[in-house]
Amino acid sequence: MTGHAADVEELSAALLALEDRIVVPDPEAGYAAAAEFERQAAALGDESLLMRARLRRAVMLDRAGDLAGATRLTQEVCNWAAVHGDRRLQARTHAFCATIAQVAGDAAKSLEHALSAVELLDDTATPYMQVSFRAALADALGHNGDMESARLRYRQAEALARELEQWERLTVVLNNWAWAEYDAGDLPRAGEITHRMREHVDAHGIDLDPTELDTIAVIQIGNGEYAEAEATMLECIARHEAGESDGADDLADYLLTLTRAQRGLGATSRAQVSLGAARSLCLERGLHEVLVRVHQEQAELHAARGEHAEAYAAHKVFQAAQKGLRAEQEQEKALLRHAVFETTEARQEAGRFRDQARRDALTGLPNRRYVDEELSTLIAADPDLTVAIADIDHFKQINDTLSHDVGDQVLVQVAKLLGTELAATNPAGFAARLGGEEFLLVLPATPITRAAQHLDAIRHAISEHHWHDITNGLPVTISIGAAAVSETSPPSQAGALADADRNLYAAKHAGRNRVITGTPPERRTRAYRDRNPDGGQTR
Ligand code: GH3
Ligand code: MG
Ligand code: MG
Repeated sequence: MTGHAADVEELSAALLALEDRIVVPDPEAGYAAAAEFERQAAALGDESLLMRARLRRAVMLDRAGDLAGATRLTQEVCNWAAVHGDRRLQARTHAFCATIAQVAGDAAKSLEHALSAVELLDDTATPYMQVSFRAALADALGHNGDMESARLRYRQAEALARELEQWERLTVVLNNWAWAEYDAGDLPRAGEITHRMREHVDAHGIDLDPTELDTIAVIQIGNGEYAEAEATMLECIARHEAGESDGADDLADYLLTLTRAQRGLGATSRAQVSLGAARSLCLERGLHEVLVRVHQEQAELHAARGEHAEAYAAHKVFQAAQKGLRAEQEQEKALLRHAVFETTEARQEAGRFRDQARRDALTGLPNRRYVDEELSTLIAADPDLTVAIADIDHFKQINDTLSHDVGDQVLVQVAKLLGTELAATNPAGFAARLGGEEFLLVLPATPITRAAQHLDAIRHAISEHHWHDITNGLPVTISIGAAAVSETSPPSQAGALADADRNLYAAKHAGRNRVITGTPPERRTRAYRDRNPDGGQTR
């Protein structure tokens, strides 16, 4: 058994290393690793590990471009984590949902998820999560146009990263912050933050990755620092080619940034060479989004050289390509939103079906299946629980002398009365239809003596109900057999129901329209008989 625990711990630690990693180089390898973790967790029978591995698999699916598949898996993990109160996993799923929503073009939804992720952080969260999720919230605020709030969160994330000595994370925080400022049009501030980022990496001997260098260069270009930007991009591309990349397709993007730096410098021939390389890559790899920007840059480059006719022609190409790309992206986003919608819908459907399967169609009361699923838990948790079986007296006669349809109406009305009467005296209790004209009444936290009074009030209410409209004068009464769960040892559903059933039989035998409680065979029987105000029996 200790071997088992060690396996779980080992697997958990290995999984954590994946969960808290900033860059995952290869989605396919990452997916295979997550799937293997999932298999091992299943073999160990550890559901929590399994769900963590499943979320990793979803993240990898997303990286591999299957957003719909990723969404489906994530919903599943999200539900499990919520049901099991696993805050750490809940936080991670929300953080990931924020990414998905961002890609789907739903900035508001993305912000909602990012906020939930931060709200769910507690002392079980790792330092990585503490820093990353706050930074992600800042990103989402920025995307929603609230730079004031975003700055506050970035500042928090920066301070926390320094406090927790999360140096690699700090680089990412500063990179994203700088980019957000650039996006919001605050170039001086963006430049100031990239300087802080440089200082930070120098102080800690960290190498900037190509993406971060690209951010710096784009901001340098924005600030008119073209020579610095060209140097930055040459470093970026060299590093990319040295194999530190996190995506082979990014090179086209880097070449484009390099082109813009060179154009700014007035080095239009160098720029044209860089742009040509970017274009070839785009065509080779089908990078539509970057290609559109290549067309745009080509127009700018012609204009910079005073080639106005060519610039105009290139601009037309750019506009057409952009239009095509937008349509393509809109379609992708719509499909993704539909996939998200479908999973939500499927979940609701499943919930509806689950409810339906546990309800009696005629009366709307919970059915036998519901009872079998819920009752034993209630019994185990509540020594003062009383169960009772109520059965309509001479119901066959109602069916035979009136009709089956009238019988149904009586069943519906009895069910309604049982529900409302029970709710009046015992709001935590419930009535269920066990089958035919037999009902179960469950009275939590009600010792048998008090339960007997409640049950007799219910019985009385049914016999006093104005049945004329349905039965044309034929009276309707019920007999009830009740049992205290504490009387069976150990308390069990089968034992309690058998006792109640025996008491019901005794009630029928004693003349019906009465409640009998608390009689394991050797015990005394207490009978509650109906009495009219004048003391006579109703039947
Ligand atoms: P007792 O007082 O001893 O309980 O007599 P009873 O006539 O109520 O008992 P019995 O078990 O002989 O008859 C139950 C009847 O309930 C027989 C069955 O046809 C009828 N019944 C069962 N389910 C339904 C239903 O859904 N609708 C209708 N209308 N009748 C039903
Ligand atoms: Mg009956
Ligand atoms: Mg019966």
